[in-house]
Amino acid sequence: MKTMNAVVFCGKDHLRMEDVPRPTAGSGDAIVRITATTICGTDVHIIGGKYPVQPGLILGHEPVGIIDELDKDLEDEFEVGQRVIVGATTPCGQCFYCLNSDHSRCGGALGGWRFGHTINGAWRLTERSTPGWAIRRSSPRGVPAERSACVG
Ligand SMILES: [Zn+2]
Ligand SMILES: [Zn+2]
Repeated sequence: MKTMNAVVFCGKDHLRMEDVPRPTAGSGDAIVRITATTICGTDVHIIGGKYPVQPGLILGHEPVGIIDELDKDLEDEFEVGQRVIVGATTPCGQCFYCLNSDHSRCGGALGGWRFGHTINGAWRLTERSTPGWAIRRSSPRGVPAERSACVG
């Protein structure tokens, strides 16, 4: 089993660097090698215990990176080696809002936010983006990863 480093939330005011399994691409997935990600105000609230998140979760929800692996269903839209911005939300693709291209409203008030909230997030070397269309767009050429992350 391949592993990678990740920053894991262990409870209020407690983060730890851990070796975790590296994700693999399943149906509809893209595997993105993280090159930069933000420390959002929401993350600060999570660490401070003001926003409930289950201990053991990898935080982070605004990454940019490079596609390492890609399910064949996504090959028309993306390619391996492409620099991309991954959205903070992981919309379901099935609900009224998603079917009307209003992904940021998926799931109600939280707008489909799952990365670093209810599923493992981006404070790690590689992230599985499920579904792949949670990838928002190509990262603009000439814009450093640290700046592109602010667009996610
Ligand atoms: Zn945020
Ligand atoms: Zn939805």
